[in-house]
Amino acid sequence: MTPELEQKIKTVFEKQKAFFKTNQTKNIEFRKAQLTKFRDVFLSHTDALCEALDIDLGKSRKEAEYVEIQIVSSELDYLLENIDEWAKPTFVESKPHPSGADIVSKIMHEPYGVNYIIGPFNYPVQLTFSPLIGALIAGNTAIIKPSENTPHVAKVIEEIIEKSFDEAYVKVFQGAIEENTLLLSLPFDYIFFTGSPNVGKIVMKAAAEQLIPLTLELGGKSPTIVHQDADLDKAVARISYGKWINCGQTCVAPDYIYIHESIKDAFVSKFIAYLKSTYPDGSLGKIGKIVSPNQIKHLAGYLEAAHEKVIYGGRYNLETRHFEATLMDNITWEDQVMQQEIFGPILPIMTYTDINVALEEINNRPKPLALYVFSESQEFANDVLNRTTSGDAEINSAIIHVGSHFLPFGGVGTSGMGKYHGKFSFEAFSHTRSVLQVK
Ligand code: NAD
Repeated sequence: MTPELEQKIKTVFEKQKAFFKTNQTKNIEFRKAQLTKFRDVFLSHTDALCEALDIDLGKSRKEAEYVEIQIVSSELDYLLENIDEWAKPTFVESKPHPSGADIVSKIMHEPYGVNYIIGPFNYPVQLTFSPLIGALIAGNTAIIKPSENTPHVAKVIEEIIEKSFDEAYVKVFQGAIEENTLLLSLPFDYIFFTGSPNVGKIVMKAAAEQLIPLTLELGGKSPTIVHQDADLDKAVARISYGKWINCGQTCVAPDYIYIHESIKDAFVSKFIAYLKSTYPDGSLGKIGKIVSPNQIKHLAGYLEAAHEKVIYGGRYNLETRHFEATLMDNITWEDQVMQQEIFGPILPIMTYTDINVALEEINNRPKPLALYVFSESQEFANDVLNRTTSGDAEINSAIIHVGSHFLPFGGVGTSGMGKYHGKFSFEAFSHTRSVLQVK
């Protein structure tokens, strides 16, 4: 990092501290005006964002619009529609005081101050702007560091921010570990990190040094249980959607299948038939790109470690960064592919005969970001949810809960802490302040 950049980071940080102190962001109309302007600039950059997403991650225009652009714009509309209501103080009952004093009690939401938002590479638009609009609707200022691994998108993000806001209010700094380390040493008022559990630990340690409150949106191995009474056609199509989108690089992608032994063969046949009909010439180049050649080598390592278990797909191209939708069968917990989050289009299949044993295995491991259960029995699905934990869960579908701004989204334990989206973003980025007044 150049001394100039280091100085610039510190100067902008101080400018944001000073701007926050002017109290302008406490005004709801100011927030609405700023976010309305941002909305226009953001949407006017749809083409630029889609082109950059294609270069960096091979996202199709349709996918980019749906999972990156529209998710941000629809959430922003929802925030703008509701902020007046959410920002009002909530009056609550007062506990009688022995003196008999007349007491009024209320709960206020106030912004933290200067926020630091750190983005990952996999949904670089959505996962940078969705926290940002939450931070701003709650009245904060923000410094953003997009992922260095999607540089074309990061450049457009910077352009959008520069056209939308003064740097004393919102500013982008590009960079990687060095820049992030410097930024994490500054006394921010709130940190919002999306990324891997390992880097999450680094961020949390840095936050702990200064007792900075934070949200961690992390990842993990999200189990997908397919019970013997599941509708297999639906299960195959819905798991396929959640797994192959963005070439498997989705934090809530079904990481592995845990299926009842009695239906495994039928499931595998249907899955292969589905893949063949969806991608008649194979899925290479059809499901997006892996972020880097190194990550391809890492994924290829899983296949090499158990090549006899690859039953479909398995081809990749280091130059184009494509990787096929790949199924691995007869997998056990000991296989290399089961040791960490896969984050690529490889779907290992494991079987169980006794659901009690399966749930114990799941519960013995780090708490996942999502858990999916496919079953026609509500009782079975409820029982699975009751006996496990995960950030969030779905019954008979996968990954679509992330797109709902009515549901709080986030992990638990090693998959993260704190929830956001919709009203939960407003709450995540607000300090809840109790105010008691004696009349
Ligand atoms: P990552 O943790 O490698 O990087 C995230 C950010 O941290 C980047 O901006 C990067 O520059 C920075 N960083 C990386 N190493 C660092 C270090 N040593 N010190 C300081 N900063 C560092 O994550 P990624 O590869 O971009 O994304 C993939 C991971 O993110 C997966 O684990 C996935 O599950 C998770 N994820 C979670 C969510 C969620 O909402 N829960 C969403 C997307 C991705």
